[in-house]
This record gives sequence, C-alpha cells and structure tokens, in this order.
Amino acid sequence: MADDIYEVFAITYARHDRNAAANFIGGDPHDGPMPLNYYVWVIRNAARTIVVDTGFDRRGAEKRGRELLRPLPEALEALGIDQASVADVVITHMHYDHCGNDGLFPNARFHLQDAEIAFATGRCMCHEQMRHAYELDDVLAMVRRVFHGRVCFHQGTSEPFPGIELHHVGGHARGLQSLRVKTGRGFVCLASDAAHHYAHLETRRVFPTCLRATTRSPASPARLLTSCRGTIPWWPASILRHCRVPRHGSCGSMRVPSAQAR
Ligand SMILES: [Zn+2]
Ligand SMILES: [Zn+2]
Repeated sequence: MADDIYEVFAITYARHDRNAAANFIGGDPHDGPMPLNYYVWVIRNAARTIVVDTGFDRRGAEKRGRELLRPLPEALEALGIDQASVADVVITHMHYDHCGNDGLFPNARFHLQDAEIAFATGRCMCHEQMRHAYELDDVLAMVRRVFHGRVCFHQGTSEPFPGIELHHVGGHARGLQSLRVKTGRGFVCLASDAAHHYAHLETRRVFPTCLRATTRSPASPARLLTSCRGTIPWWPASILRHCRVPRHGSCGSMRVPSAQAR
C-alpha cells in the first residue's frame, strides 16, 4: 500500500439515548428516538498510525450520563495499537467527548487548530453556555502539552501527513477541524461534529451546540452549514452513511468502507 493510502477504523466507544429534539436548534416536529454514538478514529497504513480524537473515560461518562460501551484502551488493544507507540493524535476540537483520556498517548504530538485552543482558554469560557462542552481538566492537559512541546498547531488547511488533510471548519466549536483521508477507494471525510447526523446536512438544521447561539462569533450556523454543504460533494465518500451503527449495548471497531460518491 502506498505511503499516502490508508485504512480508516471507527471505534464506537460510547452512546447516549435521546430524542431528535435534543439534536436540533428549534427541536424536531417528529420527535422520536435519535441516539448519539461517540467515536474515535484510527487512520493507518504501513508507514504510520494516526489516532483522531481521544474520547472520554468512565468518569467522564458518569459525569455526563453517557453509556460507556468500551473503554478506549481496550478498543485500541483490540486493534493491535500500542498506545505508547502512537506518535500523532489529531484533535478535531476540545469538547469533552473528543479530548479526554489524558495520558493515553504519552509520546504523541497533538495536532490542533490555533483557533480551538484560543477559544478554549479565552473570554468565551466565561460563559456557561460556551464552556459546558469543555472539561477544565482536558483544557489544562492540553496547555500542559503545549508547554512540553507536544502540540503541533495548524491554521486553516494543512496536510501534515501524505494523504491526510486537516480543514478548519468552525461553527460548532471555533477551532473545529475535519479531515480528508485518501484510501484505496477514494477520499473519506471524517467530519467530526461538523455533522452529527446526516439529517443535519440534508435538512440544513443545526446541532444545538453552536457558537452563534450566544455570541457574535463569525463561526455562525450559516457558516457551518455552508461549510458542510460545500464539503460533502467535494469529499464524496462521507463516512457516516457507510458505517453501520452498532445496536444498543454492542460496541466495537469497524473498518470504514470508503464508498463511492453518495
Ligand atoms: Zn463537539
Ligand atoms: Zn462531539
């Protein structure tokens, strides 16, 4: 396999049962079950293994009332990944479900957008509505990594590894970034929270955690939607539709088929 071609794995590590109304600003007129699953991604080939996001641990799950399906160390072990040998972790944004499990990758560099750590340590965190999705300990852990020279900052679009691009999207969190990954069957977009469900893209509705709700941030819901709408046709193999979501109570890792155009 070429140096810039990867396999992508989705690790479903937690779940939250909720109704659709909780997933959209303004609720949902057909308010039925619409659970959220929580993922960590692994991108790998013979040359490198990249972990995308670090999830939360059991304590984090209990604090937020989420069901932990499988602790991340176990799931990584099942994929044959030695945590200490992971050299690079991409953090899509620093919300509690993407940036926890401090210490899991003791030798890794963390790849983060400038805008995200500025947001998570700046004036917006004075507001409960803005900081509720962040955990102070996770933010402190990231600052500590900065001081230890373990954070690689990105601004906008970059290609830190052959075949793996980072794209600043914003909207849901100021420094939210999505990934575009080259696979044997085309590009896969790891949208992260730029699109929780396909319904957000297809009906142009917005997940409730969104900056414009309480601030004058330029990363507005309109921008989020514009970004997503522009993104998906360009990244034809968007991942969500092609992952079978495990049934309640089950968990595991699945190889993501990099499908053709939607
Ligand atoms: Zn988020
Ligand atoms: Zn999230």
